Amino acid sequence: MHPPYPSTSVSRRRFLGQVTAAGALALAPRWALAAGTDQPRKKLGVVLVGLGSYAGDRLAPALQNTQHCRLVGVVTGNPEKGRKWAAKYGFPEQSIYGYGTMDRMATNPDIDVVYVVTPNSLHAQHCIAAAKAGKHVITEKPMATSVEDCDAMIAACKAAGVRLMVGYRLHYEPHTAEMCRIARDRDFGPFMKITGENGFAIWPEARPQTVWRLDKKLAGGGPLMDMGVYVVQAVCMTKAEASPVAVTAQFDPVTMPDVFTEVEQSLHWTMEFADGAVAHCRASYVNQWSSLRADAAGGWVELPYPAFYYDEPLLNTSRGPVERPLVNHQEAQLDGMALEIAGKLPSLAPGEMGRRDIAITTAIYAAARSGGRVAVQA
Ligand code: NAD
Repeated sequence: MHPPYPSTSVSRRRFLGQVTAAGALALAPRWALAAGTDQPRKKLGVVLVGLGSYAGDRLAPALQNTQHCRLVGVVTGNPEKGRKWAAKYGFPEQSIYGYGTMDRMATNPDIDVVYVVTPNSLHAQHCIAAAKAGKHVITEKPMATSVEDCDAMIAACKAAGVRLMVGYRLHYEPHTAEMCRIARDRDFGPFMKITGENGFAIWPEARPQTVWRLDKKLAGGGPLMDMGVYVVQAVCMTKAEASPVAVTAQFDPVTMPDVFTEVEQSLHWTMEFADGAVAHCRASYVNQWSSLRADAAGGWVELPYPAFYYDEPLLNTSRGPVERPLVNHQEAQLDGMALEIAGKLPSLAPGEMGRRDIAITTAIYAAARSGGRVAVQA
């Protein structure tokens, strides 16, 4: 069975990138390193909440290779599965928690960070439980299914004095990061015309355990929440993290009414910015899409397919292609976030950014339902 998001094959280009990435510790800021060594002060202990496909196929393997993190426990509804993970990854069985016993993490000094990888609408309760236990939180995308939940998550983390970060791995991916720099430094001037799309065929490939993506209560919506949030993110990157002022949107016709009974099958939308820039976007659970293009008066940038998938990203510009190291996204993100925590640096993907994106997706759904232009309250 396929992962929810297609993964491209490992190539020579990727291998070279991994070699380059292995030297990344040399680039670590001095504050992150123990005095007189090239070792970080301490590997941050990470607990994964929800042992599904992303946690099992991507995050747990990545945690075996990170420089600054280690897997020290899990939260699961299935104790037997927890024991298998403990044996496989070498953490004590006392560090297996249930969703109802996350408060016990407060007394476990091995745990620094709780990484929430459950269905979207459950992120808020698991994030708040982790914050109350005094642990930093990474929550998967989309951050939550409502702005109100995002606010509650931000407030809980603030009250506990812990960080809240969103698992936006592409901020730590070098090609995407270079696109952000080009936008920030206005190499070509402000990007005014942007197009972006992301999607995958969820059916019949959806595994029974991931069918929650078709359940509105758990997913908060369809491909907009799952795949479109990458497009929203990338468009905001091309606008140097500005938020759109208004959106319009339309649901596309449903060709599989038996499957898409609760969430949209595909939709398209526009994002309008204060400087007159407009982004035309779409997201789908039936089409294999993944690309972005942004045009400015002085040039353009493009993340061609598979822009938002797990590996093999490319960055083309009107100056020519840009070569950057190829890294494992999850390792790069985990190590980047660990360094942010260790160095008390601002996060690249803080809770406030996740909240902005949920404000945008909320406005997109309101526009699609009403057929009108909806102001974004980000
Ligand atoms: P999944 O279905 O494979 O795993 C979800 C896990 O949550 C399972 O272990 C399941 O048992 C557990 N769970 C707890 N309570 C549940 C409930 N009430 N109903 C259903 N499951 C429940 O899903 P996944 O693909 O691993 O996605 C999990 C999260 O990770 C989602 O928010 C998704 O958007 C995100 N994700 C992010 C990326 C990325 O590239 N950043 C990739 C995949 C998934």
